[in-house]
Amino acid sequence: MKPAAFDYVMARTVPEVVDVLSNGPNAKVLAGGQSLILEMHLERLSPDVVVDINQIAELDQMEVRDSVLRVGSLIRHRVFENPHAVPGPLGDLFALAVVNIAHPPIRNRGTMAGSFGWAHPASEWCGLAVALDADIELAGPRGTRQVAARDFFKGPLQTARQPHEVITAVRWPLLSGGTGVGFIEHRRTHFCFAQVAVGATLNVGDGMIERARIGLVNCADRPLRAHAAEAALIGVEVGPLSDGYRLPADHPFARAGRAAAEQDAAPIAEPYADIEYRKHTIATVVARTLCQAAADQRSRASSLRGDSR
Ligand SMILES: Cc1cc2nc3c(=O)[nH]c(=O)nc-3n(C[C@H](O)[C@H](O)[C@H](O)COP(=O)(O)OP(=O)(O)OC[C@H]3O[C@@H](n4cnc5c(N)ncnc54)[C@H](O)[C@@H]3O)c2cc1C
Repeated sequence: MKPAAFDYVMARTVPEVVDVLSNGPNAKVLAGGQSLILEMHLERLSPDVVVDINQIAELDQMEVRDSVLRVGSLIRHRVFENPHAVPGPLGDLFALAVVNIAHPPIRNRGTMAGSFGWAHPASEWCGLAVALDADIELAGPRGTRQVAARDFFKGPLQTARQPHEVITAVRWPLLSGGTGVGFIEHRRTHFCFAQVAVGATLNVGDGMIERARIGLVNCADRPLRAHAAEAALIGVEVGPLSDGYRLPADHPFARAGRAAAEQDAAPIAEPYADIEYRKHTIATVVARTLCQAAADQRSRASSLRGDSR
């Protein structure tokens, strides 16, 4: 199908984008175009005006300041395939997550911030942002503001962004050096969106879990943080490591997985997965991701001590 006719504006500055969004009756920002153009071809979206932000140099910047990573709105998914693009464990977590987003041509064009503009419940970035307390930076007619990721998502493809606001950046607090990270995704075929994906971080002191963060992707109508599962882990001894495939039912990670599935998630039935199956999958993927994060934490602790690996 062909999209309905629309006006096209190539913006050179952020205020110009805000101006078009404020005056266009039904204007849309064009970033990587990997979701917008598809939706226009399918005629699920028919904007009157498309405002292209790809020539705005200030949006194509990434920097770390005061332990916060600021990712400008034109930074493409592909950048994060290099774990060294971002300092510390956050870079490793991003590298684990990003390879699950579509395939290389889409990752070459699609932007991290575009995922927040789109707000699909199966977005890997959006699930991580909720778990890691990221903020979304928005520019509008009255200046800029930041919205915490936990308050940003309102439902499938719905956010706290006002129609006249453009996302200028996503801000991520860096993770401390010893933080263990994990990210595991389950999907029907290689190029499908996640049926379930989980991102987790663990901080351990004296063998006990001091802090856990768990982000759930496509486990509800919006990205979620698994607070009940996290609470079940605090003060728990990590114990011997496992790949997570044959965990005993009373293993703390198996218990956390069940807490995530039963108390945190609110999965919706899909043609290939009823709610019971989805809850089983959530519990399994959470437990496996925690095993991965625990192994990573142990390896980082050993490196920090200078042990031979
Ligand atoms: C086959 C296929 C598979 C995919 N698989 C995955 C996947 O597994 N996981 C995943 O997360 N994504 C997936 N995607 C989506 C892809 O990641 C997109 O790149 C992303 O969702 C949107 O980024 P974009 O830069 O392409 O945004 P665009 O397509 O340009 O825009 C998407 C929406 O966000 C709005 N928007 C974009 N940027 C801004 C901004 N700065 N300010 C305000 N609004 C903005 C647009 O107006 C539009 O409504 C897939 C896409 C395809 C086509």
